[in-house]
Amino acid sequence: MSKKKKGVALHWKILIGMAVGVIFSLVLLSTSWGASMTSITVDGKEVDITRAGLFVRNWIKPFGNMFINALKLIAVPLILASLIKGVSDLKDISKLSKMGLRTILTYLGTTVIAVCIGLTIVNIIQPGKSIDEETRTNLVESSMGDAQKNIDNAAKQKENGPLQALEDLIPDNIFFAASDNGNMLQVIVFAIFFGIGLILIPESSSKPVKAFFDGFNEVILKLIDLIMLAAPYGVFALLASLVVESPSKDLFVALLWYAVSVVLGLLIMIIFYVTLVSLITKKSPRFFLNGISPAQLLAFSTSSSAATLPVTMERVEEHLGVSKEVTSFVLPIGATINMDGTSLYQAVAAIFIAQAFGMDLDFGTQLGIIATATLASIGSAAVPGAGMVMLVIVLAQAGIPEAGLALIFAIDRPLDMLRTTVNVTGDAAVSMIVGKSVGKVGEPNVLDWDDEYPKRKL
Ligand code: ASP
Repeated sequence: MSKKKKGVALHWKILIGMAVGVIFSLVLLSTSWGASMTSITVDGKEVDITRAGLFVRNWIKPFGNMFINALKLIAVPLILASLIKGVSDLKDISKLSKMGLRTILTYLGTTVIAVCIGLTIVNIIQPGKSIDEETRTNLVESSMGDAQKNIDNAAKQKENGPLQALEDLIPDNIFFAASDNGNMLQVIVFAIFFGIGLILIPESSSKPVKAFFDGFNEVILKLIDLIMLAAPYGVFALLASLVVESPSKDLFVALLWYAVSVVLGLLIMIIFYVTLVSLITKKSPRFFLNGISPAQLLAFSTSSSAATLPVTMERVEEHLGVSKEVTSFVLPIGATINMDGTSLYQAVAAIFIAQAFGMDLDFGTQLGIIATATLASIGSAAVPGAGMVMLVIVLAQAGIPEAGLALIFAIDRPLDMLRTTVNVTGDAAVSMIVGKSVGKVGEPNVLDWDDEYPKRKL
């Protein structure tokens, strides 16, 4: 029998970190010191805050931010190195276009299915009908200030012409594009373009360039391992700060049916992915969920598909056995354009707001929502709260009052955490499906450090 002792799996460590974070803040808030109020200045305005909140804000939250920053820090170099390597490994441009087409079509298909699931649930549960006039006015008044910022941001996006998104795909300066995480799609376009160039030049010239990116890629993967050492502590800090910042219980109760509709839809989406993956790849649901769970937990804790991307890539490749040529292409694109959780949420939220304002949306308008929510989710950045900014566009297209955003503002963060988890799961599922279709799903290759870190000196 092997003497090797198996340590606690990474997803358990992350779960423990999350639970301890929640318990820590709840205990702190329950002490008389923690619950007592004080005030701080934010953006020139005095705001009341509990002492527990202030403590966590000053002494715990910065560690959570450091963890997220570290993940974001490697996103651009990771995309560059792995995509250039992945594309040039294909050795053939027709393989690239075949995979590209399948990827985009599968992403579009899952997104439209997500919106339809959202629309069906919200029409059955009708959560907006349970909001009376008084609750609606209170909710809108209490969050209008914050919601207005999102409405203003969306207004800027609406000023753009119809082809702006396409125009934005081509960067005019790669260093400029790579210096802003919001320009991830431009970095992807450059990396694919560069990879195509590498395929087309003679091997004698491409060899040293490829060797450089191979090595570079390996360094980045090792950096992910190092950052993941801090994951349980990072998620502790993130969850502890979320608990002290969360809105009052009353708001949750008022919006309970809306939240139930979103959560139910997201759950159905996860079941849909798991079933699809096991039908197509013949791998068990447990295999898929176990492999991807650390990325799901990080998506939940960070609310950002972009910040989670490095871990998603590592897990899909090493734990689900999808080859690098596929993951390096499918996952970065997925993190930026495939947001099934977001599109489902946008559909539910739009109809919920319409119901709460007493509007009855006809079938045609709901069909329109399928199109706008699909496009809005593609356009949403992979960062916290981005789905809500783009929701304004869905509302405007359907003639639903934008002020309704204030209705759902208070509980957006927890729902954002859940929809980001679904977004990341969807990307992983599609890479398995596309991988299978091009014969690139093999056995997992779990490397040292992946789930357990050898006790060696760093
Ligand atoms: N936070 C989501 C993501 O990063 C986007 C959103 O729905 O707000 O995937």
